[in-house]
Order: sequence, then structure tokens, then C-alpha cells
Amino acid sequence: MTSKVIPYGKQSISQADIDAVIDVLKSDWLTQGPQVPAFEQAIADYCCVEFACATNSATSALHIACLALDVGEGDTVWTSPISFVASSNCALYCKANVDFVDIDLETGNMSVSALTAKLKLAKQKNTLPKVVIPVHLAGQSCDMAAISALAREYDFKVIEDASHAIGAKYKGKPVGSCDYSDITVFSFHPVKIITSAEGGIAVTNSAELNKKMNRLRSHGITNIPEEMTEPSHGPWYYQQLELGFNYRMTDMQAALGLSQLKQLDNFVKTRNLIAKQFDSFFSKHNMQSLIITEECYSSYHLYILRLEFSNQEQQAKFVEQLRSHGVYAHLHYMPIFLQPYYQQLGFDELAFTNAMKYYHQAVTIPLHPTLTEQEISKVQNTVKNLYQQLNSASKSTPSQ
Ligand SMILES: *Cc1c(COP(=O)(O)O)cnc(C)c1O
Repeated sequence: MTSKVIPYGKQSISQADIDAVIDVLKSDWLTQGPQVPAFEQAIADYCCVEFACATNSATSALHIACLALDVGEGDTVWTSPISFVASSNCALYCKANVDFVDIDLETGNMSVSALTAKLKLAKQKNTLPKVVIPVHLAGQSCDMAAISALAREYDFKVIEDASHAIGAKYKGKPVGSCDYSDITVFSFHPVKIITSAEGGIAVTNSAELNKKMNRLRSHGITNIPEEMTEPSHGPWYYQQLELGFNYRMTDMQAALGLSQLKQLDNFVKTRNLIAKQFDSFFSKHNMQSLIITEECYSSYHLYILRLEFSNQEQQAKFVEQLRSHGVYAHLHYMPIFLQPYYQQLGFDELAFTNAMKYYHQAVTIPLHPTLTEQEISKVQNTVKNLYQQLNSASKSTPSQ
């Protein structure tokens, strides 16, 4: 019998999505036409934020967000170690130093108490960060009110890496409102909540930051007369004012994103319903997942269990067995500082006790809106059965 492996994440593409992209292909613009500004406006409206700057990836958006906040050589940027490498790479692109703040074990998000302690120490040593990038792991917002209070006290800027969290809410408002941050970044990679194939966006309430990001995503070029340093030479004239990049989103991507956005609330609702089913099933079997706090509505990009393993071999075997039984489990994430590239920068895992503990417990299981009831049961039972087998095997003595 061949049965399909259930992936941990999967995009949902409708006929309307396909038609939207085909319409662009038949139009006059494939790239810088009307779809990108329409998508930006729709995202800004959705998030209750003033400005949105669409890019070809969240990685690019994080890069220009750092540059817009003047991150450069000699500056320091802090983020969570339990994230995708792009959360910290963006600072390295700017030649800044990177450091990590340990996490809270219950949520997997940046710990406010660890952040507070680290800031106190950094103030004494005069090594305060210029920017802190909290990451909304699995779609749950960090404690942004507390982080933004610390930002005022210690004078740093905040970029929310909300790559997982479009459609999520914090204190009743959409993540991305930037009530507690300077800039928020979303990803539209196919594995995320909604997709534009590749794509990302940076939202902000600052006209100044938005202007800078718009310029940086397109070579540092402006054609706005008021921004230019001298009068126009003629109708062909534009000016490059700084060194920017080609980080633009295409109209085809924006059309797909715009069409997907119509489904966003449904996708997130379905993800939450499935997560609730998982919660009640796994808690019955003494298997813990990340905790969602009262002030958060998660977009449930990922469903992450925290389990007990006697060692990493056993954890690896568990994930391998899940995969061979048709449940494509994963782990989000190995702490960034364990990556060889970061190891050579000299991080000590002993400074991040919770991140290391989390790494030895976490397992991501499939969660996406296209899961059928049958697949949900299969995921639940396979995970439970294999975990119970593993536990009884590790408890039995070799002679048995
Ligand atoms: C996916 C992801 C990114 C990068 O997104 P891209 O659109 O693929 O560049 C950044 N940060 C986090 C936390 C992510 O999960």
C-alpha cells in the first residue's frame, strides 16, 4: 500500500489564486504594475498599520529594515536563537554584531526576563544593542508590551520578525500594527500562512522608515523630485542616493498574495481548530505542546510538541520513525548559534540554557488547513503510539 507522507506544512492554492496570476501574465506589467501597491495597501489595512513595503522575501525585508534603522559596523543586534537563520543573518549583512537572548520554555519566544537581565549587564559594559528582533515563534506574538517598555528604557529599536505570524493577534490587535515596534516583517514563503511563492513585506507607522525601505529595495534609486540633490536633467532623470538592492516583489507574486489574503482569516481559523484538537488529544496522553498565552491569538504556523527524550539519538529516531510512518515531523529550530557559521563567531551554548533544553525537546508535527479528519487522526495516533513505544523501550532493561 502506498500512502502519502503528510508534510509538516503545505500551501493551499485555489482556482481564484491561479486566475489572479494568469491575469497578470496577460496584462501589460509582470513586475512593477498595479498589483504590488494594491497588495501593500491591503496588507497595511489588514494590519492596521500606515505603510507597507513589499519585497522578494522576508529575508530581504529584514535586511532593509535593519538598514533603515541605520544598523551598521560596530552596532549590535539581538534576536532569538530559536529561529530561522535569516533573523540574525540580516544583521550580519549590515556588518553588525549579533547576539542572542535566551527563550522562555513555555512559549519558545524570547524571554523578557532574560532580555531584562542581559540589558542590565550590557548597560554596565556599554554594549547595548541598537536593534532587538523578537521572533513570533510558530505564530504566537512575543510579549511585545514588555519588550517595547524595555526599548524605551534602554533606547533600542524593535523589528518584529513575524514571518510565522500573519493573521495572528496580540492584545486583540493584528500582529503588524507596530503598536510596540518600529517595523514588522512577514514572510510569504509557501510554507508560511499565506504565500506569494517567494515574498515578504515590511510594515511600519513611520513615513521616514518606509521611504528608506522603498529606496533600498530598488537600488537606492529615487525619482521623487523632493528627494533629489539637484534639479532634474530631463524626463529620463533619476538619482541613486545610496547603495540599495533589487529586492522588489513582482506583480505576479503580489497578485497571488492579494488573492491569498482573502483566505487568511479562514486559514488561521482552521489552523486554530486543528491545534485545539491536537491540544486536547496530546494533553490526554501527557504530551506537552507550546503554551499560548491569554493575550495571544496564534496563527499556528507550526504545531510544536515538547517531549522528553533520554538523548538526541532517541529524539532523532522518533522523528525518523514518524517520517517512515508517513508523518513528516521536523524540528524548529536548532539554535542558530550551533550553526557552523555562527560557531566560528564564538557563541557558548552554556549561555542559553533554555534554548538548548528546548532543542532537545521540540518536535514539529504536521499542521496546515488542508489536513483531513483522517490525516489529523493519523498524525495524532502515530505520534502518540511511537512516543509510547519509545518510552516503554527506554524504560525496559536490556534482558527483557
Ligand atoms: C521563513 C522565515 C524567514 C525568511 O523568510 P523568507 O521569505 O523565506 O526569506 C525569516 N524568519 C523566520 C522566523 C522565518 O521562519
